[in-house]
Amino acid sequence: MQKYDYIITGTGASGLMLAYHMVMDSFFNQKKILLIDKEIKNQNDRTWCFWEKEKGVWDSIISKEWSQVFFGSQRFSQDIKITPYQYKLIRSKDFYNFVHTAVQAKSNVTIVRESIIAIIDEGNIVEVETDQRLYLGNKVFNSVLLSNVYKNQQKYPVLNQHFIGWFVETKEPFFDSKTATFMDFTVDQKGNTRFMYVLPTSEKEALFEYTLFSEHLLTDQEYEKEIAKYLLTKGITDYTITEKEKGCIPMTCYEFRKHNSENVLHIGTAGGWTKPSTGFTFHNTKKKSEKLITFLKKNDNLLEFGKRTKFWYYDLLFLDLLYKENQNGAALFSSLFRKNKTTKILKFLDEETSFLEDLKIMATMPAMKFLRMICRRVFN
Ligand SMILES: Cc1cc2nc3c(=O)[nH]c(=O)nc-3n(C[C@H](O)[C@H](O)[C@H](O)COP(=O)(O)OP(=O)(O)OC[C@H]3O[C@@H](n4cnc5c(N)ncnc54)[C@H](O)[C@@H]3O)c2cc1C
Repeated sequence: MQKYDYIITGTGASGLMLAYHMVMDSFFNQKKILLIDKEIKNQNDRTWCFWEKEKGVWDSIISKEWSQVFFGSQRFSQDIKITPYQYKLIRSKDFYNFVHTAVQAKSNVTIVRESIIAIIDEGNIVEVETDQRLYLGNKVFNSVLLSNVYKNQQKYPVLNQHFIGWFVETKEPFFDSKTATFMDFTVDQKGNTRFMYVLPTSEKEALFEYTLFSEHLLTDQEYEKEIAKYLLTKGITDYTITEKEKGCIPMTCYEFRKHNSENVLHIGTAGGWTKPSTGFTFHNTKKKSEKLITFLKKNDNLLEFGKRTKFWYYDLLFLDLLYKENQNGAALFSSLFRKNKTTKILKFLDEETSFLEDLKIMATMPAMKFLRMICRRVFN
């Protein structure tokens, strides 16, 4: 049986980010590290976007960035400058290749293609069972959702950010490649929170994603019908679909943390690193994995990593409301963007605002609705 200092299970965004930060830090040079994933990650299966003020770790693999975004709805539509932030785009293939190159250069890292069956913390050692063998690790970082327990509980509602995207190419220049459409709620809401997300990467190429924040998924045809309809309303008729992307990201305040133990930490979406109110995960994962690296140099007990913050409570109330009144998402986001500076919203979503700044943002939201949600939480 092979024994490792660290085992990372799942080498998607969070597993690879953590591995990358480990191999970049000499503290981990003498540690035996094992990465396990059931597949070889080298495809463009995700288009990751996030905002960032400064230069970032991933700048060399950014394919496109925007300093202006568009927000659209029936009540409020505007192009908005977001400087000093940049909205950055990374294609997953570039990310996987970049990290794999860095990781494979290190002789203390082993990568295997096996499927995780179970992870058991025995107290002094962790057993990782795959479809082929058993591994032992001192610490295990797991990004594989091994159970659906978060879906089967009643305490915290589970919405999904679900979407299909078309990469569209036109013959003639059509797109304003300087502006990314963050949310366009002018699409028919049909009793949900539905919007179009558009990333123009050049004047002739753009990704159109028909997105919902709602409980139930649609059939593929329904998303695709809406993208075609949206393109038509924009006068785009002569185009080729070069690629498609599909996703479903859980939006919930379910406490994934409670599955952690002294030697096993759940990371990425499986660790609750997805921002519940938006589904954004990538940048949060970057910040958390950097913190984790610092933490590992001083601490042994993984139960002490990460605490619940005030932002968890804000997300909880927001999701409670969005779940209960899914048809009102467009109005809620519209009010948020109409009454606040977008840079302040980004700072708030990054969980970097002071309590005073939080209060100012909250004052722009429907107070009575949120009070009702607070009462429901307190008295239930
Ligand atoms: C299409 C798409 C677009 C997204 N766009 C954005 C975005 O723009 N911005 C943003 O912030 N977030 C985005 N997200 C959300 C989030 O960033 C991603 O889902 C991200 O990949 C989550 O990282 P993760 O490590 O938790 O999970 P994953 O990246 O999904 O990694 C999990 C890994 O576990 C492996 N695995 C699964 N089961 C097993 C098993 N039994 N044994 C071994 N390995 C297993 C998988 O192969 C995978 O490699 C997007 C998500 C999707 C699906």
